[in-house]
Order: sequence, then structure tokens, then C-alpha cells
Amino acid sequence: MKDLVASAERRPMPGETLHGTGFAEFLGGKGVNQAIAAARMGARTAIVGTIGSDRYGEEFVELLTGDGVDVSRIVRHPSLGTGVGLPLVLPDGGNSIIIVSRANAAITPADVEAAADVLAASRVLSVQLELPIEASAVALQLAAAAGVTTILTPAPVGPIDVRLMADVDILVPNEVEAAALTGLDCDDETQVPVIARKLADEWDLRGCVVTLGARGAFVVDRSSGAEVWVSPHLVRAVDTVGAGDAFCGSLAASLASGADLVAAVRLANAAGALSTTVNGAAVSAPVRAAALALLE
Ligand code: ATP
Repeated sequence: MKDLVASAERRPMPGETLHGTGFAEFLGGKGVNQAIAAARMGARTAIVGTIGSDRYGEEFVELLTGDGVDVSRIVRHPSLGTGVGLPLVLPDGGNSIIIVSRANAAITPADVEAAADVLAASRVLSVQLELPIEASAVALQLAAAAGVTTILTPAPVGPIDVRLMADVDILVPNEVEAAALTGLDCDDETQVPVIARKLADEWDLRGCVVTLGARGAFVVDRSSGAEVWVSPHLVRAVDTVGAGDAFCGSLAASLASGADLVAAVRLANAAGALSTTVNGAAVSAPVRAAALALLE
């Protein structure tokens, strides 16, 4: 998703043309952010997705290639443009956003099947819910059938689709998603372990990791029986957008390198914290050496 962000003193009235006060462009989307984060954490990384045959699509290819991500399985849609977001940001930080998915929504199960060799040769697959559910389901099926560890970030939040969950090993909701999926409140810290356990048991997962922003993360690993609060790192946060993706990309990279789930969450917790110290989403993910240094 290419974001074209306008700032203005207020929202325009119907029929009104309003002068804005600022403009910025960002390349984003959870898949792109997580792929870059995983690559910076040292994993050989490939991305499966769809772009338009346009300038914005090429910007994504350049960004990903710059971080060493394999873009050979990106499909260029012949007629639709790259997905765009048009946020309007107000002085109080409030915003209104129009999203036009375009090529993002056009990825098909056949597009994903064309990447079956890459999926089956991977150690870890990380999936988000920004693509059509049928395409995500095929990716998870192909990976699970090949014994690949699968991670699902259930965002944007909505009811969990049962077609996906049989092939998911590790669920990584943030606190809003965890609350929406269970009806329980993450603000109450006594409830967080209950929430993580409930999700892991309900879907028969290997593990569940609830990310809690400046409160760190909580992990349940059903294969070892471990249940651990991972304390936050004290950092000067300037922009928390993309912290969840830096966390998930790092988690995937560590699991791919053979780390156990709790150790992978500890490093992801450092990567997520460091990402908040830099402006931007994809571009704020740290390199492995920086995340390791924070753990020392
Ligand atoms: P976003 O949607 O903004 O990308 P998210 O809501 O998916 O993020 P968070 O739970 O906010 O994800 O953050 C992910 C992880 O990043 C946290 O579990 C924590 O490890 C780290 N993190 C985020 N914010 C902070 C912070 N202010 N201080 C320290 N660590 C943080």
C-alpha cells in the first residue's frame, strides 16, 4: 500500500476544496514491513504479493530489493494499479483514511500456488490478513503441508476465519486484536495470560504471543509449557507505527534460525522497541546486531 498523506487544519466540507498544511509519501503494508524486518534480522526472505504495473509498484520493488528481499514472486497486475491509502491527518493527530486496494485485492490462489516452491523451501511463513482470505489460506496450506512453521498476524482485526487456523502454528495478536478475538480486556494484566492461553488452546496452536506495546509481550509456548512475560525495553519512542511488524518479522527470522519461541520473542521485543525510536514503518526495522546489543 502506497500512502499519500495530507495534513490539514480540518476535514473539508462536502463540495469544498481545502488547502492542506503538509504532504508526505510512505510505502507500507504489513507484508512489506515484515519482510524487510526479517531480512534486516538476517533471514533470507522472499515476499509473495501483488503490485500494479505502475510507478508505485516499482517503488516497492526497489525498497524490498534494497534490503535483499527476493521479489521474484511478486505478481505485477496487468491492469490494476498498486494499492493506495489516502490518509488525512488533523492537528490533534486524528485522521480519516480512504484505502483503495486495487492490485492488493486481486491476488488469487493461483498466484500463490505459483510460489509453492518458495513456500515449501522456507523454514517460516508469516501471513497477515491484508490479502483476500482465499490467497492466505492457500499459502498456509502449502507451507503447513511442507512442515514449514507458520505465523499469523490477525490484522486488520475481524472474526478469525476457521479456514486459516488449522494451518497456523503461532498466532501474534496485538492487544486490540487479542481483546477483539476473546472479548477479554488486555488492560487488566491478570487477563493477558488467560487471553493467550485461551487463543492457543481454542485453535490448538503451538503458541500465542500477545504484543502489548510499551508493556512488552506475553508468550505461551504449548510445546514446552512455557508461559513468560517479556518486559519492555526502555527506549525513547518517537513513532510506534510498524512496531508490530518489526516484532513479527524478527520473530520469523529467529524461528527460522532455530531459536525456541521464548528466545525468539525476547529478540523480537528488542526489535520492536528499537523500531519505535525511528520514524516510519518499513524503514524503522533494526538490524540484528542492534537488537542483540539491546538484549545484553
Ligand atoms: P503497530 O500497529 O503500531 O505496528 P502493534 O500494535 O501491532 O504495532 P505493539 O504491541 O504496539 O504492536 O508493539 C509490538 C512490540 O514492539 C511490543 O510487543 C514491544 O515489544 C515493542 N514496542 C512497541 N512499543 C514500544 C515502546 N513504546 N517501548 C518499548 N517497546 C515497544
